[in-house]
Amino acid sequence: MKLQTYEALLHSKYRLALLLFLFLNTATSLFFMLPLGKASSLSWSIPTLLITFFSLILLSWYFLKPKVELPILTVTAFIMGLLWAWQIAWRFSLVFYYDGSFLLISLISIFFISALTLSDYFVAFCLHTAPVTLTVLALDDGEHLLVLLSTIALTLIGFTLQHMMRRRSDRFTRRLVSQLYEEKETYSDLSMLDPLTGLYNRRGLKNRLENILENHAGSHFVLLLDIDHFKAYNDNYGHAMGDQALARVSVAIRDAVRSRDIVTRYGGEEFLVLLTNVNASIAMKLAERIRQYVLDLEIPHRFNERVSTHVTVSAGIAALYEDDFDQALANADRALYLAKNRGRNTILAYEDLLHSELSHPADVI
Ligand code: GH3
Ligand code: MG
Ligand code: MG
Repeated sequence: MKLQTYEALLHSKYRLALLLFLFLNTATSLFFMLPLGKASSLSWSIPTLLITFFSLILLSWYFLKPKVELPILTVTAFIMGLLWAWQIAWRFSLVFYYDGSFLLISLISIFFISALTLSDYFVAFCLHTAPVTLTVLALDDGEHLLVLLSTIALTLIGFTLQHMMRRRSDRFTRRLVSQLYEEKETYSDLSMLDPLTGLYNRRGLKNRLENILENHAGSHFVLLLDIDHFKAYNDNYGHAMGDQALARVSVAIRDAVRSRDIVTRYGGEEFLVLLTNVNASIAMKLAERIRQYVLDLEIPHRFNERVSTHVTVSAGIAALYEDDFDQALANADRALYLAKNRGRNTILAYEDLLHSELSHPADVI
């Protein structure tokens, strides 16, 4: 799960809290409108009507426009808190003489709404409950002070503890999600890199290639390189030395080209360099520079028969036409094959061969 989706989860939680808050306010205000006794009629009041009206308007707005984000929970909670305080004060004058527990029930009702819906939103919780709490304390005038204070204290302690626990688990989840996301990125990067040389592997190349073909309409070249007589090197110097040589050759290749070129370990001792946004002569110069840099490493290779006493590479280069990577690769491979045939430590361009020597009978297998 990405952090963004976690944010989306929090947002939908906020939205649900607001919806539930509005719903409970509507239901409670309707409940408050019920007749006081058998003989009495509906006891509606301006505040209960306002609460119902305001809640229903917002509820319908939310249902009609589910995508719209309205950060109005805190303001709504405060307005509702004030309206409830008004309602309690108004009704208190009617019920005072026959129902002593009215204030307590009112207070608990408001705490009930807040605890159910606003427990994650500390400020909204306080703004919703404060006007009612103060009104109830003022109206009671110290008569049931102990009961009221212990109700308020219990609720506040419970709320604070729950809020702390939630925040802690929220922090934990956030940390976990971002950690997972980072690890996913790391693994995805690693899966695109060759561990021995640190160059891109085929997967990395594919990834970069898609990006380059989509975003850069310039001319690109595929350069395929292969270390000469590397089997003999391995057989005589050992696999560990072979690995070291591979790593050093990789660095030389990387150093010889530009940062925008994609250097890939394409197979065992084969490298593919995608030379991007470049013309034929510069591509050839870059390829030649690689050949020279590898030779300049002066890695002793006594078994590089008839070529050199150092490690060398041969290469084939071909232009990438119409985004057809496979064709360019096949062409570069063909040129590489001929470069090997022509004595190694050599670079051949497929396009040059096409014009002159591809038809040369000696080169055709
Ligand atoms: P050519 O000049 O025609 O390319 O001859 P070659 O010996 O280089 O070609 P061949 O394909 O016969 O041998 C490739 C060798 O590369 C075989 C293997 O020993 C060596 N090799 C491939 N991958 C690795 C690797 O990861 N580490 C080491 N040390 N050697 C490798
Ligand atoms: Mg090879
Ligand atoms: Mg080789």
